[in-house]
Amino acid sequence: GYRARSAYKLKQIAEEADLLAPGDTVVDLGAAPGGWLQVAAEEVGDGGTVVGVDLQRIDEFDEHDVETLRGDMTEERTRHYLREAVGEGGADAVLSDMAPNMTGEYNLDHARSVHLARQALDTADELLAPGGDFVVKVFQGEDLDTFRDDVADSFQYVRTVSPPASRDSSSEVYLVAKGYTTSPVAEGD
Ligand code: SAM
Repeated sequence: GYRARSAYKLKQIAEEADLLAPGDTVVDLGAAPGGWLQVAAEEVGDGGTVVGVDLQRIDEFDEHDVETLRGDMTEERTRHYLREAVGEGGADAVLSDMAPNMTGEYNLDHARSVHLARQALDTADELLAPGGDFVVKVFQGEDLDTFRDDVADSFQYVRTVSPPASRDSSSEVYLVAKGYTTSPVAEGD
């Protein structure tokens, strides 16, 4: 079984958007306890590479070969470690399910969530190979559209999805961006 029910959200997103293929290199931000890591490891198989980061310790996996790191994605040294782990070839996918500690104050939780999502976008920008994919969780709120536009600038397309497995909870959505490109994508492409 999976370590977290959130695993089903990634399964639904990956299936719908056709993400994660055998042999891929995948980086998962905010990965504890490891449900998404299990799904990613299943999809990429033995020839793939999966690296997970979280503020919390992630228990080792018996069944999968996954590299884990305890670190803060707002710190440069964590990003440095990831660049080393991924290497020259770059990543095929950067995933982020990072979430702030909830205060219950809608605007504050939204602002913190967007801040983490921007860290994830910057990290994707550092790690993704051309054509790579990006999935990021964001809580809905006033800055979502601007953030989505910024994601769209670096990818062929971006879609906002609300996987059935997450619909009964909260205001979270996932932005699914495909086709990383280092130069801005022209309008209408
Ligand atoms: N996708 C995970 C799974 O399937 O097991 C669940 C992730 S949980 C919803 C969100 C995680 O984001 C928490 O474990 C939290 O510690 C992590 N997180 C929040 N801020 C972070 C940061 N600045 N750096 C790294 N991880 C962070």
